[in-house]
Amino acid sequence: NNLVVAIDGYSSCGKSTIAKALAKKLDFVYIDTGAMYRAVTLYFLRNNIDLTDVSAVEQALNDISISLRTQNGLAQVFLNGEDVSDEIRQMPVASNVSKVAAIKAVRQAMVRQQQLMGQSANIIMDGRDIGTTVFPDAQVKLFMTADPMIRAQRRHKELVAQNPDITINEVYENLALRDHDDTTREESPLVQAPDAIVLDNSYLTPKEQLDFALSKITP
Ligand code: C5P
Repeated sequence: NNLVVAIDGYSSCGKSTIAKALAKKLDFVYIDTGAMYRAVTLYFLRNNIDLTDVSAVEQALNDISISLRTQNGLAQVFLNGEDVSDEIRQMPVASNVSKVAAIKAVRQAMVRQQQLMGQSANIIMDGRDIGTTVFPDAQVKLFMTADPMIRAQRRHKELVAQNPDITINEVYENLALRDHDDTTREESPLVQAPDAIVLDNSYLTPKEQLDFALSKITP
């Protein structure tokens, strides 16, 4: 049986940093499910899909193919063959992704694809519903939190390189809004799985996080 490490938590808590480090250390495949929802959102934005039009959403989902690849430690996301890794991190997608991720048909399509990905390899998967919905039987579940202002500062640092005008406040508001949407939506809202181990990442270095997670995975 393949092993699954599920990492869930709020936006910008450092889930992907720890997931990538774990994947490298353990030689597991890293799957960034947020990137999948972001790629769907980008497609919907580009094609002006009306989020309230169920058949338009379903048709769009049929027209989308998303693949993830890791090259030289860099996670790349492809939407219908196009590398959209940078574009899905920008504000237009960030401001709309939680609305798109709340749509039932979108979640069903993503969860199905994610479950298939877990059949062929040992995986580290990060997201919001991995330990609760996608892989409720995952062998290891981490739930990450961090102080909201620290999260906003970290994310701002990443975004400002491409968008010098962006303010910390804008980033903070976006994170707060996404957390609100993610925890209050009807379809598999973000909640901590009862058997998840909490990792508060406010004041840990990447090395400390990795050591903590490894201590939970390799006894
Ligand atoms: O992880 P990341 O911040 O890139 O995720 C972007 C958005 O995608 C989240 O704010 C959330 O709305 C949605 N998401 C989700 N379920 C997942 C992963 C991400 O709803 N498993």
